[in-house]
Formats: sequence, structure tokens, C-alpha cells
Amino acid sequence: MGFRFQRDSPQRQREEMVRTQLAERGIRNLRVLDAMRKVPRHEFVPETFRQDAYEDHPLPIDEGQTISQPYIVAAMLEHLALHATERVLEIGTGSGYVTALLSLICSEVYSVERHAQLAALAESTLHRLQYRNVKIRVGDGRQGWPEHSPFDAILVSAATPEMPPSLFAQLRDGGRLILPVGPSSSQELQLICKFGGQPEVKIFEGCRFVPLVDGTVAGE
Ligand code: SAH
Repeated sequence: MGFRFQRDSPQRQREEMVRTQLAERGIRNLRVLDAMRKVPRHEFVPETFRQDAYEDHPLPIDEGQTISQPYIVAAMLEHLALHATERVLEIGTGSGYVTALLSLICSEVYSVERHAQLAALAESTLHRLQYRNVKIRVGDGRQGWPEHSPFDAILVSAATPEMPPSLFAQLRDGGRLILPVGPSSSQELQLICKFGGQPEVKIFEGCRFVPLVDGTVAGE
């Protein structure tokens, strides 16, 4: 009988991911680290990429989109500095992985996705895994979700050349918005805080996201 490589359990792989990819690279927020230890990332990636779910890079999901690298997700969440009580708007639900993390570290999550099929799959995964404080809508995320505004925080998982003004308008005063800004080849993470109705911008690490595009894509 040949030697068979036994992969660690998903829980062990997550602990390893948190230690080597996040904590050792400077992610300190305990709520973020704890959520990343808990959310089963492998449940959010397509079957064929499950064995790579805890690797240090982004992975393809359906519709030519990607689930972001764990480190960049953790960095975005850390910059938002959430305390559990916040109502958060997410743009670009994708697989629902970031939605699940947000669900554990804030109080209510509103998430907008332009692809109807991705939104439906994310919704069913989140429901199956019992993330309850989450609402998903198909729509153009650049318009936000005005009916539920103002939000304490907004996280955008797709890149834009400039911050969409409707998103800033839906942020409460004192709120924080994190998003990748720049051309499609490369962007930087920007944290925009709203004080007295004015933006205060801080620039963080370089990153590479799929573009935030116009319009919605209907399901079949
Ligand atoms: N956070 C996601 C990342 C998905 S990639 C995850 O963890 O899987 C970015 C997502 O943004 C894609 O699903 C893409 O369809 C979506 N997107 C792009 N432009 C959009 C727009 N204008 N409105 C809403 N979603 C958009």
C-alpha cells in the first residue's frame, strides 16, 4: 500500500492560515482573527478548488469572479475596526465569504451583488451555514442600498477609479468606508472616514481586485 498524504482538517488549516498569513504579517484585531479562524472558507469556493481554500492567494469563483486572498480580506476588515454593534454595507457579495466574516464581527450586514447567480449561491451557502444577520440584494452596488442607510461602515470588494459618491452619501457621520481605488491593473486600499460630511482619506496597501462594473446580470 502506497503512502497517502493526509491533509489537515479545515480547522487546522484555518489556524495555520491565521498564524502564518495574518498574525505574522501584522493583523492584530482579535475579532478579525477570531472570525477568520471560524468561517469555513472551503465552503465558499467551487468544489474543484476546495483543496486550495486556505492557500495564500485569491481563487476563481463562478462568472469569472474571484474570492479575495485571505490577507487582503483581513486587512480590509482590520481597517474598518468594527466593534459588534455596526450596520455594514458590503458591495460585491461574490461567494459570500466576506459576508460571513462580517456577520460574525458586526450586527447587521447588507450586501449587494450584480450577478444574480452569484447572489443566489451566496445566499444559499450563508443560509445553510446559519449566518442569519445578513441580507443580500441583486443590484448595482455603486448605488448602495439607500433604504437601509446610513451605514456605520461600507466595504467594497471590487475596484473603482474613484469612490462612488452615492456610497459616501450613505455613510453616517463618523463612519468608515474601505475600498480598492485605481485602474484595473493595480490599486491601493483606501480608508475613507466621514467627518462633518467631509472625506478624510488614508492610503494603505497595494492590491488587485476585479473591477466594479456597471449594471446587473440577470439569472436564468
Ligand atoms: N467578497 C467577495 C469578492 C467577490 S469579487 C468574496 O469573498 O467572494 C467582487 C464581486 O463584485 C464579484 O462577485 C462581482 O460580480 C461584484 N461586482 C462587480 N461590480 C459590481 C457592482 N457594480 N455592483 C455589485 N457587485 C459588483
